[in-house]
This record gives sequence, C-alpha cells and structure tokens, in this order.
Amino acid sequence: MLTIHQILKQYWGFDSFRPLQEDVIRSVLSGHDTLALMPTGGGKSLCFQVPAMCQEGMCLVISPLIALMKDQVENLRRKNITAYSIFSGMSRKEVIHTLETVTNSNCKFLYVSPERLETALFKEYLPGMNITLIAVDEAHCISQWGYDFRPPYLRIAKLREELPDVPVLALTASATAEVQQDICDKLHFNKSIVFRQSFERANLSYSVFKVDSRINKIIEILKNVPGTGIVYCKSRKRTKEISELLQLQGIAANYYHAGLLQEERNSRQEAWINNKVRVIVCTNAFGMGIDKPDVRTVIHADAPDCLENYYQEAGRAGRDGKTAYAVLLYDERELQELHEMTAIRFPSQNDIRNVYHAVANYLQIPSGTGVGEYYDFDLPDFLRKFKMNTHTVVYSLKALEQEGWLSFNEQVFLPSTVQFTATKDHLYQFEKDNPVLEPVIKSLLRAYGGIFDHACTISELQVAQLARKEAEKVKKQLLQLHAARIIDYTPRKDSPQLLLLRNRVKAEELTVNVTAYHKRKEIFQQRVGEIVRYAKEEAECRSRMIGVYFGDKDIRSCGICDNCLRRKAVTLTREEFENIHSRIAGILITERLPVKELMQRLNGIKKEKAWKVIEFLQAENKIEMDTKGILLLK
Ligand code: ADP
Ligand code: MG
Repeated sequence: MLTIHQILKQYWGFDSFRPLQEDVIRSVLSGHDTLALMPTGGGKSLCFQVPAMCQEGMCLVISPLIALMKDQVENLRRKNITAYSIFSGMSRKEVIHTLETVTNSNCKFLYVSPERLETALFKEYLPGMNITLIAVDEAHCISQWGYDFRPPYLRIAKLREELPDVPVLALTASATAEVQQDICDKLHFNKSIVFRQSFERANLSYSVFKVDSRINKIIEILKNVPGTGIVYCKSRKRTKEISELLQLQGIAANYYHAGLLQEERNSRQEAWINNKVRVIVCTNAFGMGIDKPDVRTVIHADAPDCLENYYQEAGRAGRDGKTAYAVLLYDERELQELHEMTAIRFPSQNDIRNVYHAVANYLQIPSGTGVGEYYDFDLPDFLRKFKMNTHTVVYSLKALEQEGWLSFNEQVFLPSTVQFTATKDHLYQFEKDNPVLEPVIKSLLRAYGGIFDHACTISELQVAQLARKEAEKVKKQLLQLHAARIIDYTPRKDSPQLLLLRNRVKAEELTVNVTAYHKRKEIFQQRVGEIVRYAKEEAECRSRMIGVYFGDKDIRSCGICDNCLRRKAVTLTREEFENIHSRIAGILITERLPVKELMQRLNGIKKEKAWKVIEFLQAENKIEMDTKGILLLK
C-alpha cells in the first residue's frame, strides 16, 4: 500500500500537503469522524480523496453543487480513477445505469447530490457498494442555523444508520461556532474532532467605504491597484452597467451572472482566468470552484447579506500570498434595506400556502400525487401567469424547501443524451433512405461508444463539428431522428427543476414548523446585524471581527485593514493613555462586557483612541477576550 505522500505525488503530482490536510487525512484514516474548516481554495477535496485512494472500498461524496461535482468527477477520471455522480434531474434509467456500473466496477468515488440519498433506489444498491468513507462537502448546509440550510442534508444521519462503521468527514469553508457544533450533532459524530484553519489572511487588507457614487470609487480603486479584480454586485442588471462604465474608462471588464447561457459564462470565465479580461463584474453566481491565485482586488459594490458570504467572496483575493485588497462599498439606505430584507425573506404562513397552491396548479399536479416527480419549473412564466410578487414566491419556495415539501434547484444543467433505439439492420436501411441524416448518425456513432447500449451524454456542438454542420441544424436533425424512432434524444435542460418531496396536499393541510421558522428568522436578523456592524465599524480590526465571528478568538490585529491603519495614525499623549486606561479598568473591574458596550460606556473618548488602549492591554495580557467577544480584566 502506498503512503499518503506517495499517493499525493503519484496522482496529484504535489510534493507536500497544505496546512491541516495531513492532520485531517490522518484523523480520517484512523476512523474518526472529523470536521474540517478550511477556506475556499484551501484544498478540502484532497482531504477525502487521498484517504480514499489509500484504502479499500469506495468514498461516497455528498455535495450540493452539481457543476463542481461534475468537475471533480472529470478531474478524477483524467487521473484514471473511477468516479461517478448522481444528481437531481437524472432520469430513473440513468440513475439505475450509474448504480449498476458503480456496484460492478472498481469505482472509488460516487458523488451524490443530497436529495438523491433518500430514494428507495439508492438504498437498494447501498449494501453492494462497499463504502468505507463518507465525505460531506459544504457541511454547513446541514444546519438550520447556518446561512445555507438544505434539508436533504439531514438525511445523511439516516444513511449513517445503514453504514454504522463508516467514518464521516465533514468539510466547510465557514461556519460559526454554533453551526460547527450543530454539524457534529446532526451528523451524529461519536466524538467531535474539529480541525480549523485560522481565519487570518495576513496578506489581505480589508476596508470599507461609505460612498455616494459607487462607480467613481470602483474606478479609483482599480486605477490605484493594478492587476486582476472581481466586482460583486447584487443584481444582474448592475453587473452589465458597471462593466460598461469600466470599459468606458479603458478598463478591460466583462460581466457574468446566472442568466447568461452556459457557453457564454464559460467563455467569460476563461477569458478572465487567462488574463484576457482584467475585471469581472458579477453576481455571487461567479467564483464557485474558481482557483485564480493572483486576484489583487475584490470589490463589493453592494453589501452581501452575511459575513459568511462576504468572507468567502473577499477571500478570493490574494491566494498567492501577495498583498491584496478586499473592499466593501455601502450607503446608508442599503443597510436599511438589508434590515428590511428580513420581512421579505420570511413570508407569512398564508403567503407560503398561497404560493404552494399556485405552483401546484401551474404544474397541474393532481391532489394526492407527485411525490418524487421532477417538474420543469419556468419561474418567470409562472410569475407572469399568476401575477405574484417575485420575492414572495422565491422565498416561499425556500421555506417550502426547508420544511421538506419540495426541492427547487435553479441551477440545473442537464446535458443532452442520446441512445440508439433502432436495430442495426433498421438503421442501415434508414440511412440509405435518408442520406441527409447520415452524417449526423455517423458522427454520433463515431464519437460515443456504447451509444447502442445506454443513454450517452452528447454535445450537439461536438456532433456538429464532426458532421461539419451548424449546431442548430444538428439539433433539428436529432429531433427528426427521435421522431423517426431511430434514437431516443433528450435535449439538454437548463430549466430549473422542481422536485416534489411529498404528495400534493390541500393548501390548508400544509404545515410549517413555526418555532423553527421564527428561530431561523431571528438568526437571519442577527447575521444581517453583524454585516451592518462590520460595515459601520470604524475602529476594530476587520480581520479580527471576522475571526471572532467564526469562533477564532486568537486572531491578532492585522495592521493592514483600514481601521488598523487609522488607529496607527492616531497618537495618544501619556495623559490620555493613563486616563483611558483607568476608565477601562474601572469599568471592567465590576463587570465583563462586549467591546461594543465598553465603547459606549467610554463616551466622550474617540473610538480609535480607546481601541488603541484596548489593543495595548491585550498585547500586555492585562485583559482578555472570550469567544463571544467579551472583555475581562485579568
Ligand atoms: P476547496 O474545496 O477547499 O475550496 P479544492 O479542494 O477545490 O479547495 O482545492 C483548490 C486547489 O488547490 C485545487 O486546484 C487543488 O489541486 C489545489 N491543491 C490542493 N491541495 C494541494 C497541495 N497539497 N498542493 C498543491 N495544490 C493543492
Ligand atoms: Mg470544495
């Protein structure tokens, strides 16, 4: 058996592990349930891929992001490692075919999207699969209190019952202390072994500006900081506007959002990665799985709705370890709107029922049926026909999802598939009778082995190139062949899929767990409160604010964020220092306080000055901060 270092070298060509990777891998190999918190791009995948390659059996990977899942499967296959994936939207036939292949091959990795876990079909094949490791990617999705709760994740606990001796590795880039605990509970960890990489990013300078004109500030920043940049915006419309304004200034920019066609998105992403475009202006649809080391600036033109997202997106800057800038722009009205978002994000019970009813009618689902069915769900068309408010619908669907009524996946890209259904003799005759269709038939047969036996994923573009025809023409001919029952052709779908998890009920029978719903709402409000506080804070080190938020209290002041720089510029006279020092000591001697409250008590003293003293006292170990950010005197 090869050692983990040999495996790393042989399959991935790397000489050494990144921080924490080796600890996590060893923990997993000793059979311990393990939680690993590592930043995006930190190399979480290797933490389950390497141990799986070191031992017998197969690794089951649960991941919610279909596009990333496909990337990983392709990457593994390029290394001659057998890997498959099962995701939402695949037909029953395709799933059976995949499961058959998995059980009858030397498959090492099976990637599954969480809503697939529960199906009877999956369970049926489970015993035959020899699973020796379960990896749960984006593990924060299992927590109701996290920022991206996905109920199907809760089913992983059930899966554990069927595979009692198999260790679980949970991976995430960001989770607060509360969510970390929740992950371990919900996954039934026998002992909580947690590896957490520091949230410190020594080369990343955070700053925040309150602005009247975002575009002017963005231009100013991009003129001052050379190199690649990302500008995050809230709306698709704004990505285009800002990108055009940047172009007018001679800055090579393009925009990106989920509303663009897949090919378009790929080509824009490629152009940016290869430095043909300097700045990409995008919504948060951009960035998943992208690993560009030399990003110098990440600018948020709009405030994101939580620090988890902000940290992840800002963290795409400076992966190469060289100085980089994360800049957040905001205005007062926007912060107000963030607060108002809560009411929109959590519609009333009544709204939720109405939306459920309308959607079921729109999809023509008869009462008492529908469980396990996938429906193409064209949201804009639905909104047009039922004249409902977009937000109400979107967030009611989210609530229905979190309550386990349905699952709605907006980003499904199912490739086209073809299988030949005619016999070879019939096909021969058909080709003779229909010579215009012959090039397409020949190209299909040439490009896709096994296309007679099972449905193959095809690319119309590839067939078009082989047949020397236009892609549109090829699509038409494939449909013709389908109509003539020569092939079974399912054109690609990029329409969002709605999966019903329970049979349709009458609207009044629809129930929502009110207590949990309200707690989620409360936690959402707290999260918004934190990002607002981050934006408005003018004294505390930003890197430390983020660290404390994620339960990492050991972070020292970074010295390079706007607040640290401002504080450095402040000078204190000896007298001022003594005065502030004695006031702080006087307050903390009777009670321990969060920094914010201490600041309020110190009224009349400039915040930067107070911070300077607090920092000094911390460095001298005279005061201490606990995980909740509360200061106490030592
Ligand atoms: P994450 O899931 O944490 O966001 P990935 O697993 O996708 O990160 O890895 C990000 C990149 O880092 C990948 O391109 C991967 O090949 C690379 N990488 C991971 N581990 C190492 C290592 N030990 N040495 C060099 N590169 C690595
Ligand atoms: Mg990952």
